[in-house]
Amino acid sequence: MSSLILILGDQLNKSISSLKQANKAEDIVLMCEVRAEAKYVKHHKKKLVFVLSAMRHFHQELKFSGYNVTYVKLNDKSNSGSLESEIQRIANDNNINNITVTHPGEYRVYKNINTLSSKNLNINWLEDDRYFCSRDEFRKWVDKKTQLRMENFYRYMRQKYNILMDGNEPVGNKWNYDKENRKPLKNEIISSRPKIFKPDAITNEVIELIESEFNENFGDILPFELAVTRKQALAALNHFIKERLVQFGDYQDAMLEKEPYMYHSLLSFYLNIGLLLPAEVISKAEKTYQNGHAPINAVEGFIRQILGWREFIHGIYWHKMPNYSTKNFFNAENDLPDFFWDGDTKLNCLSQCIQETKKNAYAHHIQRLMILGNFCLLTGIEPKKVCEWYLIVYADAFEWVELPNVMGMILFADGGYLASKPYASGGAYINKMSNYCKSCHFKIKEKTGEQACPFNYLYWNFLHQHQDKLSNNQRLSMMYSTLKKMDSEKLTLIRSSAENFIKSI
Ligand SMILES: Cc1cc2nc3c(=O)[nH]c(=O)nc-3n(C[C@H](O)[C@H](O)[C@H](O)COP(=O)(O)OP(=O)(O)OC[C@H]3O[C@@H](n4cnc5c(N)ncnc54)[C@H](O)[C@@H]3O)c2cc1C
Repeated sequence: MSSLILILGDQLNKSISSLKQANKAEDIVLMCEVRAEAKYVKHHKKKLVFVLSAMRHFHQELKFSGYNVTYVKLNDKSNSGSLESEIQRIANDNNINNITVTHPGEYRVYKNINTLSSKNLNINWLEDDRYFCSRDEFRKWVDKKTQLRMENFYRYMRQKYNILMDGNEPVGNKWNYDKENRKPLKNEIISSRPKIFKPDAITNEVIELIESEFNENFGDILPFELAVTRKQALAALNHFIKERLVQFGDYQDAMLEKEPYMYHSLLSFYLNIGLLLPAEVISKAEKTYQNGHAPINAVEGFIRQILGWREFIHGIYWHKMPNYSTKNFFNAENDLPDFFWDGDTKLNCLSQCIQETKKNAYAHHIQRLMILGNFCLLTGIEPKKVCEWYLIVYADAFEWVELPNVMGMILFADGGYLASKPYASGGAYINKMSNYCKSCHFKIKEKTGEQACPFNYLYWNFLHQHQDKLSNNQRLSMMYSTLKKMDSEKLTLIRSSAENFIKSI
């Protein structure tokens, strides 16, 4: 009996579980560009070009490999606009009742497709085996834990898959080289930049489409330099491993003006839509260490991000959805400032990160966490609004990875389920890890008043404001003892500076 095999826009790999089962002679592979997906948030224009162009290239690859593919373009006259209605239409046209699909990454997409099971279609859901840890295994690992720690999960994954292990011990006798991933990079030059790719005819056609139909969306469409095929993504991976991984470890947390990429890999784009597989990326990095071509702090630091954080975040999303999206531990309800859309603010760090986001649909982790996220946390912006912004602006943004990073990591909106303490900091951290403060309108050394770096007073104001919820947190005990000793006049100045600033934005 033939099946309709649905391939979603983030499942662009020939080894995806649904294609592994395909009978090329009988089954129809369905790929569709639908308005419901393109419009559920106003995605960055670059993100739309990236996903649609990669889909169109993957369609060609599948046809070339002998699959019978039905590809529905965004503007096809018969395109009914949503995934569910397109699946139903194509299934009806071909007299097919069986739909095979690898489990979607996003809860919303799962829910929508699942409505078809009440419409005489059998849905055969397959596990997405691109992840090291299945949703069931993560659930078992969580068991009765009330607080989860990424580090414990990461060690479990390292042991299970024998990655960077020497028998039962971690290579180098240390699990984690985090402390050796925090060098600032102030006066040096970045020695190698990420690999870039020229748009071909398919990509140019998609650029025209997005320019004409989504022109109001956020972000710059050009230059478009991302990989859109597996071959290009592999070239990007090889370039990173050969030229940039060595420095990734030392400078993982560093930030520099006009250097949006530092030594980061820029592989999240490709991992998230299937052009690269996590296992092959980790294996290449591990081999580079084994061959003596990259130090352990770089390779462990990089592998921790993928085998640790990425898998952990994915597990939490599926373990906690759908309720996770409604969390708001601090009852934050402020609006996102307008300057989050154009970078027009006197705070140089924010202005740099937002302008780079607008141009590249990318910011590296420390920019997302310690500049943009830290600001949203300290100024009490409503979690839903922050989530929507992050989902719109980055080309690697899919809800399964964006939501826990926003809710759990930057906003502590889940009350500490994902992170052991809020990632909050004052201006001193930003000044230590970047050169942003040098050319900022505000003065990093001043603690209160109009000229002071807002992060300085916002930080103490945040701790004071939420002391009922945070003062018992062991990891904040030093900060709370400093706050306790603070004289009341200083605290009053801090609170009024913070209040005035928050009102002004
Ligand atoms: C508020 C916030 C929102 C984020 N939203 C997204 C998102 O929508 N999509 C996304 O892929 N990542 C997201 N991240 C995680 C991380 O910032 C990006 O994966 C990373 O910046 C991508 O750039 P890179 O490929 O150069 O990463 P590198 O620094 O080179 O890291 C290597 C890889 O590790 C993985 N990784 C690292 N950190 C994380 C993490 N915290 N969660 C999941 N994977 C991680 C990514 O796959 C990344 O490609 C977010 C982080 C924060 C703090």
